Amino acid sequence: MSASNRPIYVTRPHLPPLKEFVDHLERIWASGVLTNRGPMHRQLEDELARHLGVGHVALFNNGMQALVTALQALELKGEVITTPYSFVATTHAIVWNDLVPVFVDVEPGGFNIDAGRIAAAITERTCAIMPVHCYGWPCDVERIAATAQRFGLKVIYDSAHAFGVRIGGRSVLEHGDLSVLSFHATKVFNTFEGGAIVCPNAEIKARIDRLKNFGIRDEDHIEAVGLNGKMNEVQAAFGLVQLRHIDAAIERRGTVCERYRELLAGTAGIELPRSDRSVQWNHAYFPVRVREPYPISRDALYERLHNNGIIARKYFYPLLSELPMYRNLPSAAPANLPNATRLAREVLCLPLYPELTEADVERIVGIIRVPERFP
Ligand SMILES: *Cc1c(COP(=O)(O)O)cnc(C)c1O
Repeated sequence: MSASNRPIYVTRPHLPPLKEFVDHLERIWASGVLTNRGPMHRQLEDELARHLGVGHVALFNNGMQALVTALQALELKGEVITTPYSFVATTHAIVWNDLVPVFVDVEPGGFNIDAGRIAAAITERTCAIMPVHCYGWPCDVERIAATAQRFGLKVIYDSAHAFGVRIGGRSVLEHGDLSVLSFHATKVFNTFEGGAIVCPNAEIKARIDRLKNFGIRDEDHIEAVGLNGKMNEVQAAFGLVQLRHIDAAIERRGTVCERYRELLAGTAGIELPRSDRSVQWNHAYFPVRVREPYPISRDALYERLHNNGIIARKYFYPLLSELPMYRNLPSAAPANLPNATRLAREVLCLPLYPELTEADVERIVGIIRVPERFP
């Protein structure tokens, strides 16, 4: 394949200079500490808390274990209100805690849970709300906090997409009782695999640190049925190196998004993600909605792009409420979720990563603007 028709994937991990990583590996070899809250792990927790502007960070080996542990740490029982429009880990984490997911529709024209519909889904069994800052775009955090306070509910944000996002200068990760990040290779900031829980105080962080280490309190006491969620030193070292380059990577993502906006503006039937200057966004994804009067369907456009080496993705389709293990829940009925159902059939995430070139963007946009011209 020539350079011009190599496949372009929806994302590509941002790799920092190898030399900097090797320097860190040499320090690991010298220390002989490979895991269990070693020096790299402690340093990354401190640097992330500072970089993100949050109180405390507890690192994990992946985002899923962090989500499961966040729910466990709050000792919940009953129903958890959540969104059907997310990655499958969101609902799975609820069910791993023997809790029952209750789906609430997304906002009309948006991607996040409709905060105005949460109250109507609350029953005497509701214990928590688990919204997702989908694509890194902040939820209506004020309204969700007001509803949670009125009904005495906990709020756990799945912030897997929201690394570094700020509203009015403050981190969006400070909202909710706990907020959970993913550092998977496909995310804005990665540690190969990894994740973290953002905690408001040292006490809850200490509890979470015990839960992610089998529930061990000390040599003589095991206090809970914890799992093994520890991040190792090599992952943490990669995170430290990555963190030095993350601002430049996010800025570059922003430039790619701007270019998409300029080139796709005015394409009938292609609805661009909104932009709002009060949100400091991380440019995690570039979702477009494909709808009338666009000449072909979302699925046909997806095929057309694939045929031409552009691996766009239908994030998030199918809805979580349509999966075989969740579709029999009463709240999963499509009639309960009209906005999400429509969104999942119209959305397409376009390739977006720091190294995506201007020529790549032009090639992708060329196909979207005149799909009839391509096989
Ligand atoms: C990636 C992702 C997760 C899971 O994170 P992993 O680190 O891959 O386990 C959870 N929720 C959402 C919304 C995600 O996109």
